[in-house]
Amino acid sequence: METFVECLGASREVGRSAFMLHTDRNIMLDYGIKIFDESGQAKFPLETPVKPDMMVLSHAHLDHSGCIPALYVQNRIRWYSTPPTKDICEVLWMDSMKIMGDDLPYRLGHLKKAQKFWNPLLYRHPINSGETKIELYDAGHISGAAMVEITHRGKSFFYTGDFKIEETFMHRGAKFAEGVDTLMIESTYAKRDHPPRRQAEEKFMESIYETLENGGNVLLPAFALGRTQELIALLRSYDREIPIFVDGMGREMSRIYMAYPKYLKDPDSFKKAVRSVTLVQSIPDKKAALREPSVIISTAGMLNGGPVLNYIFNANSESKIIFTGYCVEGTNGWMLQNNGNIVKDGQELAVDLPVEYLDLSAHAGRTDLLRFIKKANPEKILLVHGDKPEDFAQELEEEHGFKSVAPLPGERVML
Ligand SMILES: [Zn+2]
Ligand SMILES: [Zn+2]
Repeated sequence: METFVECLGASREVGRSAFMLHTDRNIMLDYGIKIFDESGQAKFPLETPVKPDMMVLSHAHLDHSGCIPALYVQNRIRWYSTPPTKDICEVLWMDSMKIMGDDLPYRLGHLKKAQKFWNPLLYRHPINSGETKIELYDAGHISGAAMVEITHRGKSFFYTGDFKIEETFMHRGAKFAEGVDTLMIESTYAKRDHPPRRQAEEKFMESIYETLENGGNVLLPAFALGRTQELIALLRSYDREIPIFVDGMGREMSRIYMAYPKYLKDPDSFKKAVRSVTLVQSIPDKKAALREPSVIISTAGMLNGGPVLNYIFNANSESKIIFTGYCVEGTNGWMLQNNGNIVKDGQELAVDLPVEYLDLSAHAGRTDLLRFIKKANPEKILLVHGDKPEDFAQELEEEHGFKSVAPLPGERVML
C-alpha cells in the first residue's frame, strides 16, 4: 500500500490549510479557508480527490477550520479535535456564516451536520483506526491547538499545524518531536526571527504609558482568538491599574478559554485578568472607553470591519494605534501601515493617528523552526503554510542535508 499526501491548500501560501494523508485510511488534516486572497476575496481549498474516512483538525483558526462544514455537503465522517477547538469553531463558523453567508461553499444545515460528527481527541491520548494511529500534542499556539502525529506500519508522519516553542503568557509552548519519518511543518516565519520578547514588551508598555499620560487612548486591533487573550494577560502582568476595554468577539473567546483551564499555562491569573477588564457590551460602554485615557483591545485585527473602526475615527488626537499581529497585503491594516489610509463603506479615508507595530507572533521563528527540524531529524520534509517556502526547502537541502519539498496546490507527495 502506498502512503502519500494530497496538498489541497496552504501550499506555497498562508491560508486554506488542507491536506489529505492516505494510509489504510484517507485522513483529512485541516480544511480551512483563506479569508483574503490577493484580490481581497475568500479562497477555498481544493476538493478532496477521494472520499475522506475521517478528519483531524489541528486548531480553530479559520485558515485551518473554516471549510470543514463543506465536507458535510457530501460526507458523513467523524472529525476529531480537542474540546476547546470544537467550541471555538462553532462560534467562528456561525460568525463567518453571518459575514460571508452565500459566498461560502456550504449552508447552515451542513454546519449543523458537521457539529454532530465531532469527537473529542485529547493531547497524548491516541486513537486507532485500522492500522493507523493518531495522536495529538500541545502546539503552544492558541488554546487547544495541536500537532498531529499519524503512525502507520511503524512509520511516523508528523504535522505541526501552527506552533510555537517559546513560552507566552497563555501557553507553555510546544515540545520537540523525535523519531519522525515525514515532517509536514508550517514555515510562516522561515525567513526571520521574532525580536526578543521581553524587550518588545517593555517597549510596548513604555509606548502605552506615554499615550495615556498625554490623555490619549491606545487602540490595539486584535484577533478575537488568541491575540486578545495574550494581550489581556500581558498588560495585566505589567500593570494592574490601567483601564482596559475589550470589544468584539474577544469576549466570547475569552469565556471559552476560561471554560478549559487545563489548556492554559496560568488559568487563575488569566481569570483574574479578565475580571479586571471592561468587556464592552453596549453603546455607553463604547463611549466610556473613549472618555478617559485607556487601552482598547478590539476586533478586527486587520481592520477589515469590526468595532475597532469606530474607535479609530472617534479617538482624540493624542491617541495611537498599535498592531500586534501580521496584516495581509491589501487589508485595511496593511494599507494603514503602508499608505496611511483605510477603506470604509467604499470610501478611502485618511487616518491621522500614529501607528506602531509590536511583534507578538504565536508562530515559531526561523531559529526555532530549524531547531525543531533538527530534533525531529526526518527523512523527508514538506514545507507548508508559508510565503515562498521553496527558498527554505532549498536551504534545508543544500545546507542541512534534509530532503525537502514545498508542494504546489494539488500536488501529490509520495512518502
Ligand atoms: Zn493558527
Ligand atoms: Zn494558520
